[in-house]
Amino acid sequence: MGHIKGLKCRECGREYAVEPIYVCEFCFGPLEVSYDYASIAKALSRKTIESREKSLWRYRELLPVDGEPQVGLTSGYTPLMKADNLARELGVAELYLKDDTVVHPTLSFKDRVVSVALTKAKEFGFDTVACASTGNLAHSVSAHGARAGLRRFIFIPASLEASKIIASLVYEPNLVAVDGNYDEVNRLCSEIASRYRWAFVNINIRPFYAEGSKTLGFEIVEQLGWKAPDNVVVPCASGSLLTKVWKSFKEFKEIGILGELGTKVFAAQATGCSPIVTAIKQGTDVIRPVKPDTIAKSLAIGNPADGFYASQVIKETGGAGEDVSDREIIDAIGLLARTEGIFAETAGGVTLAAAKKLIEAGKIGRDEVTVICLTGNGLKTQEALQGHTISPHYIKPNINSFEEVLKKIG
Ligand SMILES: *Cc1c(COP(=O)(O)O)cnc(C)c1O
Repeated sequence: MGHIKGLKCRECGREYAVEPIYVCEFCFGPLEVSYDYASIAKALSRKTIESREKSLWRYRELLPVDGEPQVGLTSGYTPLMKADNLARELGVAELYLKDDTVVHPTLSFKDRVVSVALTKAKEFGFDTVACASTGNLAHSVSAHGARAGLRRFIFIPASLEASKIIASLVYEPNLVAVDGNYDEVNRLCSEIASRYRWAFVNINIRPFYAEGSKTLGFEIVEQLGWKAPDNVVVPCASGSLLTKVWKSFKEFKEIGILGELGTKVFAAQATGCSPIVTAIKQGTDVIRPVKPDTIAKSLAIGNPADGFYASQVIKETGGAGEDVSDREIIDAIGLLARTEGIFAETAGGVTLAAAKKLIEAGKIGRDEVTVICLTGNGLKTQEALQGHTISPHYIKPNINSFEEVLKKIG
């Protein structure tokens, strides 16, 4: 097994051996995994994939591991739901929700990247894993690292939602809450990563970690009956997921699983942290860092590492970007729950609200096939809805009291 050629600089193309490194020594460009697609095409067919277990490892030839998967054996293969109620509400013909709010052990798409990153960390022989997180990554590394028997250092902004902090603490990692925003946490972690031989999943292991996101795209294609959609709407934090969804479609084409690609890729961000969408709207290649201020904390990266590459994918595919207010996020969470019975976290609200605006603006065609990516479960960010839901009916424990309420409901 193992179809990796090596690591390659995205800027100057210089090649490196497979090691826990992430920047080019010459031009400081980010490194990316490169594969031998000719040998993958021989090893991997639709039939082979279909014969395998329903987890993200069914696409293993296109993932950067050498041996057997060691982490996240039950991650991935989440539902692709045809959302007819929501389609009617939004006035589109064919709408699908890629539902990463369920199935994953820690209920967010981060189980995809962490499954790959920790398998790779074990292959490299690391005994300690670490991450800088906006919330879901903390949760996922804490959990998968526990099962894999790894020592864990988890760095988060101290201002994260209480429920996300508890959901990480339960696995007893070394949780370090930093008095600063994500970008400050990330800067600190880069410094720590250069001093200690730890596998920082989104720093020195990042090239391998990021590849895990492709599985979301592979699944969309397989679940649509081996077709790529006309439009896909992706939430952006660092911008990595968006670039990898596109890479997944291109790789399926490269190995002959898909024909010509006509997919447009769309970015969704919160207005309170929209460096990528702002650059797209202004038609510039320069991503200007911002100071995040939004309830969508899982997307609150003001200085996105893959922002430039995400904006290039959007341009290349003819997509667009849209940003939405906190109010629109909350309304969209409600709309999704009311129409399709799915409770998504704030990032899901961002994505649906952005998709709605893109449809209204005519940027997403009403008679096309559109997939909206829901990347995390709403039970993780319940605080965001405090004071924004309907109220319970309070009654006395007797039938009269109940029937009074029933009369009012009608
Ligand atoms: C991390 C995350 C994303 C996207 O992250 P990228 O850094 O852009 O890859 C999207 N949704 C949720 C819920 C996340 O936690």
